[in-house]
Amino acid sequence: MDSILIGAPGAGKGTQAEKLSQLLGVRHIASGDLFRKAFEEQTELALKAQKYVDLGELVPDELTIPAVLRHVEEPESMHGVLLDGFPRTLAQAQALDAVLQGVNRQIDLAIYLKLSREELLRRIAGRLFCHAHQHVYHVQFRPPKVADTCDLDGSKLYQRPDDTGEALRRRLVIFFNEATQVLDYYRKQHKLRKVDGNQSIDQVTAMLLNEINDSMR
Ligand code: ADP
Ligand code: ADP
Repeated sequence: MDSILIGAPGAGKGTQAEKLSQLLGVRHIASGDLFRKAFEEQTELALKAQKYVDLGELVPDELTIPAVLRHVEEPESMHGVLLDGFPRTLAQAQALDAVLQGVNRQIDLAIYLKLSREELLRRIAGRLFCHAHQHVYHVQFRPPKVADTCDLDGSKLYQRPDDTGEALRRRLVIFFNEATQVLDYYRKQHKLRKVDGNQSIDQVTAMLLNEINDSMR
């Protein structure tokens, strides 16, 4: 099964994709995590992409598409992928289709995780990431056992610089401008479903699993 989670910054895509990918036995690929890993490792991609991420702008398609699709094409993705944060533009959605078609696969389901603006802002204001593997916490809703330390790998937690100020404002504006195109693309193919993301982590997982099971009938 190949599917996509679409949602504004802070909607819970990463949190849910991590759980679902384990339950479904598919690979979780998060475009934002790929960029942040590149920054930690100071790769060539990082040099080119950093300025866009810092400003809260989309990284141009010519950098993003190959960086993400390379992972979709790897053998580890053979049993299916759950994409989080990609595609964000029509060109990305079309490029993804072309790669999947090449191996006789297609996107089976796109889920839009919809939240109120107030809830998005609460989620982002308290979000923390770990340096080593981008594991996600929330100071209030999902606190680590030891303050500022990742439960899973012991690395230090940090707040993303683009989760504050002008970069955050830009990201929210861009999402609500660009998402319509991508949502329409999957709606026209009857692949789009909507889930209310304002509930607890476990409630959202249950609703997502319902939609996934229903779509496979
Ligand atoms: P969020 O947690 O807000 O959904 P991400 O971690 O997915 O954010 O993305 C962080 C940043 O990485 C974005 O603001 C953007 O600069 C870049 N980025 C991530 N995915 C994409 C994409 N599909 N296309 C272009 N830029 C992207
Ligand atoms: P996205 O990947 O869509 O940007 P995240 O999965 O990083 O979103 O979630 C944003 C923040 O909200 C994180 O700090 C996460 O721990 C927290 N969070 C995620 N889902 C929920 C939920 N259902 N209820 C409360 N907090 C949540």
